[in-house]
Amino acid sequence: MKQSGESSGSTSFEDSPIARELADLSARRRALEAVEVKLSGRTRVFTVSNQKGGVGKTTTAVNISAALASLGAKVLVIDLDPQGNASTALGVPHNADTASIYDVLIDEFPLADIIQTSPESPNLLCAPSTIHLAGAEIELVSQVAREHRLRGALRDYLADAGNHLDFVIIDCPPSLGLLTINAFTAADEVLIPIQCEYYALEGLSQLLGSVQMIQKHLNPALHVSTILLTMYDGRTRLAQQVADEVRQHFSNEVLDTVIPRSVRVSEAPSFGQTVIAYDGHSAGAIAYREAAVEIVARDTTTKED
Ligand code: ATP
Ligand code: MG
Repeated sequence: MKQSGESSGSTSFEDSPIARELADLSARRRALEAVEVKLSGRTRVFTVSNQKGGVGKTTTAVNISAALASLGAKVLVIDLDPQGNASTALGVPHNADTASIYDVLIDEFPLADIIQTSPESPNLLCAPSTIHLAGAEIELVSQVAREHRLRGALRDYLADAGNHLDFVIIDCPPSLGLLTINAFTAADEVLIPIQCEYYALEGLSQLLGSVQMIQKHLNPALHVSTILLTMYDGRTRLAQQVADEVRQHFSNEVLDTVIPRSVRVSEAPSFGQTVIAYDGHSAGAIAYREAAVEIVARDTTTKED
């Protein structure tokens, strides 16, 4: 019990909020080091989608992938966005002359011919995007089996016994055009990053409607398995309100882990790195590693919908 006149807050470093945060982070890091993950042996294919721009799709795709790779999983990131941000963050060259996912979708190159290994880890592969992909949306319109191009390429790649993958993570552009439809057709699971900001849920019903359409007409296996709250700022009431609302609507899909807003996360791509390699002990890296552990544990692919 505090006596009146006693100083209201201790000024010692151990009791300061920053010290508590550091202690919490190191406890979480130790817990992660003790985790043993069991991979299913099957290939789980995720598409990271949200037609809203700038919600953390690419950041989530590359950092979850790097975190999964650090757990021992073999992971392929397919960069399906002409912006090529995922390729950049994975340190993979993707200038206009690079063989890319464009060549796979339009000229039927085998995936094996365009896949590169990220300098970050031999477990982390990338099918890069180049600027040519910007035209693919229109070029695909006149192509045979235009919605199935990516699915076919992936199936052919995985048919080779030497090409086992535990995870395929597809980074989508912020639209619901033919590139995203190719991702929906190739994937089993949809991972939706939701930014803990005002208007977070705007457009979500349109996205869920598109998933239902794809389920009905192109890919019955597709389901929203995972929702990840990103750019969470615990100091604001708004972030908490958005998180609570999303959890109310999607209690089964939302991961317990929340990705904090963190400068380390946003600066990593400018070094051609994921936050896992850039600063593996930072709050953002630890959160992405925790999210990856949850994703491995929550295997919903066999769930009957
Ligand atoms: P687009 O729709 O353009 O493809 P996106 O949904 O892929 O965007 P990102 O590019 O991943 O979104 O993120 C948008 C911006 O937010 C980037 O500048 C990124 O660095 C930043 N960002 C993402 N996650 C975080 C985070 N947890 N903390 C701080 N900044 C973040
Ligand atoms: Mg993106």
